[in-house]
Amino acid sequence: MDWSAAVRYRHDRGVPVLLTNVVVEGIPARIRIAGERIDAISADVHRRPGEQVVDCGGGVAEPGYTDHHLHLHALAAARRSVRCGPPEVTDGAGLAAVLAAAPADEHGWVRGVGYSETVAGELDSDSLDRLYAARPVRISHRSGAMWLVNGLGARVLGLDDARHPGIERRPDGTPTGRIFRADDWLRKRLPSNGFPDLSAVGAELLSLGITSVTDATPDLDTAALEHLQSAAASGAIPQRLHLLGVPLGRNITEHRVTTGPYKIVVADSELPNLDDLTDRIRAAHNVGRAVAVHCVTREALILTLAALDDAGASGHDRIEHAAIVPPDLIDDLCRLRVTVVTQPGFLADRGHDYLRDVDPSDRENLYRCASLMAAGVPVALSSDAPYGPLDPAEIIDAAVTRRVAGGEIAGRSERLTIDEAASRLRTPAIGLRRGSLADIVIRDAAGVTIAVVAGEVVR
Ligand SMILES: [Zn+2]
Repeated sequence: MDWSAAVRYRHDRGVPVLLTNVVVEGIPARIRIAGERIDAISADVHRRPGEQVVDCGGGVAEPGYTDHHLHLHALAAARRSVRCGPPEVTDGAGLAAVLAAAPADEHGWVRGVGYSETVAGELDSDSLDRLYAARPVRISHRSGAMWLVNGLGARVLGLDDARHPGIERRPDGTPTGRIFRADDWLRKRLPSNGFPDLSAVGAELLSLGITSVTDATPDLDTAALEHLQSAAASGAIPQRLHLLGVPLGRNITEHRVTTGPYKIVVADSELPNLDDLTDRIRAAHNVGRAVAVHCVTREALILTLAALDDAGASGHDRIEHAAIVPPDLIDDLCRLRVTVVTQPGFLADRGHDYLRDVDPSDRENLYRCASLMAAGVPVALSSDAPYGPLDPAEIIDAAVTRRVAGGEIAGRSERLTIDEAASRLRTPAIGLRRGSLADIVIRDAAGVTIAVVAGEVVR
């Protein structure tokens, strides 16, 4: 099956569908879909006039996965970029080699992703130039929070005279080439000013059984929103699309696209003050939006919980990542009815670094899952792709084994069962029951053959 092709709709929108020749929980069955819901599942559902029959070829039906936190534009861009971190690149010579071999975009830029200090330390534009200076280069740090450009890149961007608080400067005012949290600014300075096409990412997500995604990119501007909306309308992104970065005061609700909690980034590098954070949370709650607060460190989590306490929790607020949760904060998470949207996939992907960098007393606090669930804290799993692994099978395996590179286990008591992990990569409203939302994937030995999203056969 060629998943790289653009997604094609397999039936006329709005026409009721009868899936035949499909296996549900080990039993041959048929599934009738009416509107966006499952109307009937059994062996003797008979075709009604006007229903379109889709033969599933004996494939197995599963409810589609929901990736509760990823970044679509960054993922599409990453798929067209050269990897600059482990496991592909592990030292300066390797980095120089991949940059020299990388194809440039139509404007002559080389785009790298996934840089880690384990490769060649804390690079600035001078040290990057010593590795590669022949074409303009920009490399994203694997945290997603920083871009590094080489000397030519800095010149093309006009970093010397540019004004953005994220442009790091030396005491004499010259830019270091490191640019923090400035994706929008950077995009506008780049020649194409465009967004990557999303259809390959949409198809890749479907091939992994993902029928619903939450884009967690903060502060989506009008251009970014329009691009995402048009990708949903055209079917480039055939998934349900829930957006956290919709500005306050706007509410997007259209075909398969919804507005979620309001994303607030509590930067690990520079904590906001408590009153400012409380005000931002209040401002969202006042217009009926819950919040989704990016919290990686212990300090960020303490501050965020204090702000939620002051602002008053909405009951639908989320903490994104919760990479470190000290045990004494679990009761607060529970009391404030906060959902934790976390990424155990990082353990498999970067766990080795964690075991080296994270304070040993914090190892048990990394990407908690089981202890939060036991305490009654709602937990949702996600990829944070492109920064973490996208494949639900990898995420589930990481949540179940918590094995890091080298075979060590991080937080043995936080392990989930396969069913627990899979259920946290889903949404309760989506299932294989009468009345469930009809987000269904059909698999055979070769992979996903048919996908239904919101009652529409999208593949
Ligand atoms: Zn993220």
